[in-house]
Amino acid sequence: MSDLANRVADTQAILARIAAEYTPAVFASSLAAEDMVLTDLILRANLPIGIFSLETGRLHKETLAVLDAVKTHYGRDIILFRPQTDAVDAYVAQNGLNAFYDSVEMRRECCRIRKVEPLGRALAGNKAWITGQRRAQSATRSDLSTQEDDPAHGMTKFNPLADWTEEHVWEYLRANQVPYNALHDRGYPSIGCEPCTRAIEPGEDVRAGRWWWEHPDSKECGLHVVDGKLIRIKSVAA
Ligand code: SF4
Repeated sequence: MSDLANRVADTQAILARIAAEYTPAVFASSLAAEDMVLTDLILRANLPIGIFSLETGRLHKETLAVLDAVKTHYGRDIILFRPQTDAVDAYVAQNGLNAFYDSVEMRRECCRIRKVEPLGRALAGNKAWITGQRRAQSATRSDLSTQEDDPAHGMTKFNPLADWTEEHVWEYLRANQVPYNALHDRGYPSIGCEPCTRAIEPGEDVRAGRWWWEHPDSKECGLHVVDGKLIRIKSVAA
């Protein structure tokens, strides 16, 4: 069995175990390449695992197009969780539409309103959630476990692609003709909200295009918490 085939088999086994032992469980998809691998494995096996994405209201049109591509390819919808309208309106009225460029605090508050709060609603009532995180994405993820406790959300968190490399991800997507975000082919290895993401140059850190105006130590969106602290994604893959 090839290296990729071994990883696919292991990942299928993890997803099947989640479906059998952790119902209800949900997969939080950012619609990035890794997440499309998991989307493909979950939907083709028709596993009883919900798939949702955080529609922040500031995503690229190419990212939103992935939603239509999933619908066309699999005949299934990804459930969208959106920020509270009142909270967005109040933030914009008080600070302006793009206040996240002004300070780390303003940026974190925008992420809290548009991502963290909706994530809490999306996860509520589930026994487990699934992410597309990989060890090779980040120095802080170098000891990422396939399964871990998530006390911040009061459930178990699974990272089935923990030991996948970027090469595995793209080999899988191409071999299985899985739809993916067109921005990946235009210099965007990591994709977040449109105003907070830029393409990177060859040799740059894969996360260099995220919140590029900030000091690297402040880069996090608050979606992943380890030991009570927000964790920063710092690439070692580049
Ligand atoms: S990534 Fe940017 S636009 Fe998106 S929620 Fe965070 S600060 Fe707001």
